[in-house]
Amino acid sequence: MIERIKRGLEYFQMNTYKEYETLYHDLELQQHPEILFIGCSDSRVSPEILLGAEPGDVFVLRNIANTVPSFDARTRDMTTLSGIEYAVLVLKVEMIIVCGHSNCGGCSAALTGREKLAQLPYTKDYLQPLDILREKIEKNATDETSDTKARMMEELNVVEQLNHLKEYPFINDRIAEGTLSIKGWRYDIGEGEVETYDEELKNFTPIVSHLKPTD
Ligand SMILES: [Zn+2]
Repeated sequence: MIERIKRGLEYFQMNTYKEYETLYHDLELQQHPEILFIGCSDSRVSPEILLGAEPGDVFVLRNIANTVPSFDARTRDMTTLSGIEYAVLVLKVEMIIVCGHSNCGGCSAALTGREKLAQLPYTKDYLQPLDILREKIEKNATDETSDTKARMMEELNVVEQLNHLKEYPFINDRIAEGTLSIKGWRYDIGEGEVETYDEELKNFTPIVSHLKPTD
């Protein structure tokens, strides 16, 4: 493992750093990212790769199942909240993206029941706010396949986090000013597709699609 890490660092210094050397010098004392990306910690979700972003472009927060605490439960996750506060009030990002993804383990655990997480007491507690989404699916989608339910959970979870963001005055004020927008995405890992939540249509549609080209 250590050899692999060394090779990675060597590659960074010899290639990536060289390629962006001027940019790294410019970024040495300041950052001006325009996007706050709130994604899942899942190793398959790489914001910079997904966005084709360069160093300094994206302020990133990642946690299990890309969650944001509701205003009423804000003390549950000060790590995420302080990151959002800094990005919005200090860095003045122009867009917040909440990005869910396919085959999300956090969403899956919440959907199948947190009581099965007896060996993971912290995770069990952390996922408690997702219970309300599981109940919604159990009530309205009893006949759906497990794949469809998993997808519903991942999508509902993103929408729920957007709603939570809008509960904070410091975020809503910026949205009202027209200086901040918030987007909900679901990234399909196997297909390489990203869908965005349409607030009017109440569904997710592809942003760009290599599978369904438009003319
Ligand atoms: Zn996940």
